[in-house]
Parts: sequence; structure tokens; C-alpha cells
Amino acid sequence: MGKSSKDKRDIYYRLAKEQGWRARSAFKLIQINSQFHVLDGVKRVVDLCAAPGSWSQVLSKALYSDSEDKDDVKIVAVDLQSMAPLPGVVQLKGDITKESTANEILAQFDGGQLVDLVVFDGAPDVTGLHDLDEYVQAQLLLAALNITTYLLKPGGTFIGKIFRGKDSSLLISQLEIFFGDVVVAKPCSSRNSSIESFVVCRDFRLPDGYKPTMANPLMTNDSLSWDEMDVHRVITPFVACGSLSGFDADKTYPLEIDGLQYIQRNPVQGPIAPPYEKSKPLITTKGTSVVQTPIDQGVASAEKLMD
Ligand code: SAM
Repeated sequence: MGKSSKDKRDIYYRLAKEQGWRARSAFKLIQINSQFHVLDGVKRVVDLCAAPGSWSQVLSKALYSDSEDKDDVKIVAVDLQSMAPLPGVVQLKGDITKESTANEILAQFDGGQLVDLVVFDGAPDVTGLHDLDEYVQAQLLLAALNITTYLLKPGGTFIGKIFRGKDSSLLISQLEIFFGDVVVAKPCSSRNSSIESFVVCRDFRLPDGYKPTMANPLMTNDSLSWDEMDVHRVITPFVACGSLSGFDADKTYPLEIDGLQYIQRNPVQGPIAPPYEKSKPLITTKGTSVVQTPIDQGVASAEKLMD
């Protein structure tokens, strides 16, 4: 699919570029916040699986750049991948299932202070096989919950991406062991056709006798007993957030909206270390050296065949 056809089709992709967000997912956190006010009074935040950084951008703008009281604000963003810098955001490269990552995050906060908010928009590589994608996403959400039990202060908030499927109620039961209030939210910027939703979990409390441990990052075996889960059989609210009269993520919009002319824009933040940079330089007929991507190589060999 050409770059321009994606621009044309997806209104949030276009708006993200216009407004300078690194990814359209920025709108998901903005819409969750407008519904639940999760950023109110927040000073210490951890953004798990943060790259390329659009959620960190939202946090940086709301809590740091637009704030008059920046002194106590600390935002820590963690990902397996590198991320371009952002004002007021400390970046760590690490795996959220590793104890060393949990300790590195805690070391960023004075005296190992616990944080007000943990956000998680992580995703493994999606295969397109719903059952498999849902399972792997559930594992990553559990890893995020597990590291959160290390980092979050009592009463704190956790927001995490969940893929709705046959096992999501079990996952939500696990969350309800740790949070007094769990709601599933679907921001308007998240396509209806996507199985993605977000759990907004408030009022964090560790169950009696529960000791956070990174030795069991996916919270399997004995860390949660079935008895504990049984007492949490409740219907979790499901809430749409963002203005319902706003843009529809599943709709195709004309290039000119409300008199505003469409302008083709480059990505707000290009990839930091794209694999194609490793490709060998190609000597062109004019003797100039250019970087050759796998696609270029394919095109070049196809052209050679046609000569
Ligand atoms: N929230 C980001 C934003 O707004 O720009 C988008 C996150 S992207 C959808 C998913 C990210 O999860 C990827 O950058 C990937 O590297 C990260 N990820 C997946 N597994 C991870 C793990 N075990 N530890 C750390 N990051 C992980």
C-alpha cells in the first residue's frame, strides 16, 4: 500500500502527523485521559513498551512541558527498542520481564519511591491469527502487571492494552485481585475492527501476603491461587471513550475536511535504527553511492531482468 493511500484512509494517522505525534496511538491515551482523568495529580509515571514514544509524548506534554511545577515530575519510558529523546522523559532500553529492568526503573526514582501511574501499550509482533495474538498479548499484559506490582504505589493506576477474546475475563479477574476498580475502555481512535481495548485499573493494593517477584514474570504457577480468583467474579464495565461525535477510526474521510486542505507529511519521527540501514551501498550508473533497501534490491533485480 502506498504511503499516500494510508494517509488518505486513516484520519487519526493524518491528525497524528498534523499535530506532531509520533504515532496515531497518542489519541488513545488522550481519549482515555479525557474520560478517566488518569493524569490528574500525577508526578511519577512509567511508560512500559514505549517506543516509538507517542504515549511518552502525551505524558511529556501534559505532565512536563505544559506544567508549571516540573521539579517533582519524572517520566520513565522503557522498551526493547531505542527511542528518540523527549523533554522530561528518561529512557531505558530493557525487557519488562527482567528483574534488572524493574531495578533500573526503580533506581530512577529518588530513594526507590513508588510511582503514581504505570501505562502499558506493548504488543508482540502480531501474526493475524487471533487466538495466538490474544494469547501472546495476554502474556505480555501479565508481564506488565507483574512489573507494576513492583513499581506502583498503593492507590495508584495502571492502564494496559488487552486483546478481547475468550480468555479476557480470566485476565480481568487477575487484575481485579490487585485493583479496586477495573474498567475496559475502547477509545474512539481504536478501530472497531481491532480486538484491542484498554484496561483502566485504579486503586492498586497488594493482596495480603503477596510479595512482588520478578522470578515469575508471567504470574503463572502459585503466585495467584484459584481461590483468590474465585472471589472476584464480577461484570467489568466496558466504556467507549473520546467524543462519540468525533472522528470514526473505521471510516474513510475526504481529503478536504471543513475547508482544510490535505497536505502530504513525512513521519513525525523516523525509525532510530531501521534494519535497511545495514544494507550495502549501491553504486549507481553515475557513480554516486546510495543506500539500498531490500525493496530497492528487489526492484533493481527485476529491472535488470527486464533490460
Ligand atoms: N506506546 C507506543 C507509542 O505510543 O508509541 C507504541 C508501542 S508499540 C505498539 C509496542 C512496543 O512494545 C514495541 O516498541 C516493542 O518493542 C515493545 N515491546 C514488546 N515486548 C516488549 C518487552 N518484553 N519489553 C519491552 N518492550 C517490549
